[in-house]
Amino acid sequence: MRISDGQLQLSATDVAKHLACRHVTTLDMLAVLKKIERPYWHDPGVAVLEERGLRHEAAYLQHLKDLRYDVLADDDGCHNGLRIDRTVNAMRSGAGAIAQADLQNGRWRGRADVLLRVDRPSDLGNWSYEVVDTKLARETRGGTILQLCLYSELVAQIQGLMPDRMHVVSPGQGFQPETFRLHDFLAYYRFVKSRLEKAVAENEILTTYPDPVELCDICQWWPRCNDRRRADDHLSFVAGILKLQIGQLSNWGITTLAGLATMRLPLSNRPERGAPDGYAKVREQARLQLEYRTTGTPVYELLPPEPERGLAKLPAPSSGDVFLDFEADPFVEEGGLEYLLGYVTLLDTGEPEYTSMWAFDRGSGRRIFESFIDFVMERRSNYPDLHIYHFSQYETTALKRLMGRYATREDEIDRLLRAGVFVDLHGVVKQSLRASVERYSLKDLEVFFGFERKTDLRDAKQSLRNLECALELNQVGAVGQEVLNTVESYNREDCVSTLRLRNWLEGIRRNLILAGKEISRPTVQTGDPAEAVDERRKRALALMERLLRGVSEDPLQRTRDEHARWLLAHMLEWHRREEKAPWWEYFRLCGLTDEELLEERSGISGLEFIKRVGGTELCPIDRYQFPPQDTQIREGDSLETSTGSFGTVEAIDNATRTLD
Ligand code: SF4
Repeated sequence: MRISDGQLQLSATDVAKHLACRHVTTLDMLAVLKKIERPYWHDPGVAVLEERGLRHEAAYLQHLKDLRYDVLADDDGCHNGLRIDRTVNAMRSGAGAIAQADLQNGRWRGRADVLLRVDRPSDLGNWSYEVVDTKLARETRGGTILQLCLYSELVAQIQGLMPDRMHVVSPGQGFQPETFRLHDFLAYYRFVKSRLEKAVAENEILTTYPDPVELCDICQWWPRCNDRRRADDHLSFVAGILKLQIGQLSNWGITTLAGLATMRLPLSNRPERGAPDGYAKVREQARLQLEYRTTGTPVYELLPPEPERGLAKLPAPSSGDVFLDFEADPFVEEGGLEYLLGYVTLLDTGEPEYTSMWAFDRGSGRRIFESFIDFVMERRSNYPDLHIYHFSQYETTALKRLMGRYATREDEIDRLLRAGVFVDLHGVVKQSLRASVERYSLKDLEVFFGFERKTDLRDAKQSLRNLECALELNQVGAVGQEVLNTVESYNREDCVSTLRLRNWLEGIRRNLILAGKEISRPTVQTGDPAEAVDERRKRALALMERLLRGVSEDPLQRTRDEHARWLLAHMLEWHRREEKAPWWEYFRLCGLTDEELLEERSGISGLEFIKRVGGTELCPIDRYQFPPQDTQIREGDSLETSTGSFGTVEAIDNATRTLD
C-alpha cells in the first residue's frame, strides 16, 4: 500500500494481508496517510526467508532455461514505470518466460514471480501468459491464491484474455507446478478485493480490532497490537480459550479476562457455539489468572482425576528413564532438520547427565536418529521399564517423521510406540491441573517446580535464530562456538526441566494417594507386534536385505541397476509405512477434547441427533446438527469415534450445519 501521485495504490500483498487480518489494513492505511508511524521491524528470519525465496526462484528459472525457454531475467535497475513497460513489451514480443514481471492497472499493482507463455491465442498473437508463483511453503495458502488471481487479472488487461490457469512451484517437487483453475477462485477473490477497496475507502479505523491471528507472528505491528490487547485485558490472554468462545462471550458482553473470571456459573444462557463445559473451563482458567495477577502468587488447582487421563498417564519412574528434547528448524532443506537431539538420563547418584547430538545436514540427521534409537533399545534391555519423557507432541511426531524419511529403525519405533514408552508431560499437565499461566509451556510452568534457568532466554532465542538462519542458508560454518554453546545449554535446561516437571507431578500424585485417592498407572505393554504382521515383516526385511546387498546409501555412488534395486527394496514396505500416518492422526484426534475438536478441521464435534431421515432398519440414516466449525469432513467420509466406527457421511450441509 502506498500513495503515488496522490493516489492510493494497492498490491497483491495488501489483498493477502487483508484476508489474514482486517486490522492490518487499517494500520497500513493510517501509516500511509502519515497518521501513525510505521514501526521499525527487523526480523533476520524474514530476511533469510526472502533470500531462500530468491534462490528457489533462480533455480526455477534455470530449470526453465534448461527446458529451452527464453527467459527474460529481472531488471531491477529501472524505475517503476519502465519496469511495467518492460513487462508489456516482453509479453508482446512473446518471450518464453518473464521473471519478476511488474504489472499495474489503475490503483492495483503487483510483481509476479514468473509469467509463462502458453499456446493460447490472445490480443498478443498466437500466445498468451499464465502466472507462476515460486513459493517456499509446501502447502498453498489462501493468500497465495488471491495474489495469483490479482496478477492474472492484471495480465488479462494487457493480453485481452483471462488466463485459464495459475501455478505454484514449491521446492522439492522437481519444479512440477501445482496448477489451479482461475475461474474456481475468481468469485472469492473479487469478494475479498472489493472488501479491501471498501475498507480503504471508508477507513475502518473505528471498527477493526487487533484480534490475534496467525499473521501476528511475523507482523511489524505486533508490539502496537499486543499493547492494545493488554490495555484492554483481552480475552485472548486466557490460556486455551478458543476463537469461537471469544466470539460467543463478546455476544454476551464479556470482553475481558477479568470479566470472564467473574462470569456466573452455571451459565444462564446456552452458548450458540461450543459446549457449555468449555465455557466453564475457560472461566475457571481466567479466575486463576486473575488471582495471580491480583496477589502476585502463582496458583494451581487439581482437576478431578479421570481413569487413563492426567496423572494416571504417569508410568512408575525407572532408573533407566530418558528425558528428551529436540531443537529443529522446519525450513532447512526440504522438510526441515532436527539439528540437535538432547537427552538427560540419571546417574546412580540421581544427578542428571546430559547428552547432545548435533546434525547440520541430512546425513548426520540420520546418524543421530539411528544412534538415539539404538541407544534406547539397548537401554531397554537393561531397564525394560524405562520411559522417554518429553514436553509436547513434537518429539514423537519428529521421530515418526525421521523414521519415514530415512526408512530406518521402523520396527524399533513401532515397538516403542506400541509399548507406550513415550510420555508427553504437556498432555499430563493439561489433563490433571489448572494453573495461573497464560500458556501451558514448559517455561511458564517452571515457577511451580522451582526450576531456575541459567541461560538467558533472550540470548538463547537470539542464538537459535542465528543458528537457524545459517542452517537455512547452508552457512553453518560461519556460526561461532559461543552460539552453539548457548543453544546446547538451552536444550540441556529443557531436558532437565522436563525431568523436574516429571518429579513434581510424581510428588502431586504421591500426595493424592496419601490423601486416599486412587490413581492407577498405565498398563505395561510389551510392544511386540501381532504375529502375522511380524512374520510378513520378517519376509519383507529378508527380501529387502537381499536387494540392498552391496548397494550404497549415497545415490551418487549407485549404478542404474543398483538404484533400481534400492527403489524396489524401499517400495516393499511403502504401503505399510503410508498406512501408519492415518492411524497416528486417528490416535491424535482421539486425544483431543470436544472443544479442541471444534477447531480441528480433520474432525467434527458437538453432533446432536435431530431425526431419522431414511435408510433401513439395519442401516438407518440419521441427521445431526453440529455447531459452527470449519471442517474438512465430506460426503462419503467414514467417521470414527474413540470407541469405533460411527458411520459414513451421506450428506453434509455447512449452511444449515447438518450431517446425515
Ligand atoms: S499484529 Fe496481528 S492483529 Fe495486529 S495488525 Fe498484525 S496481524 Fe493484525
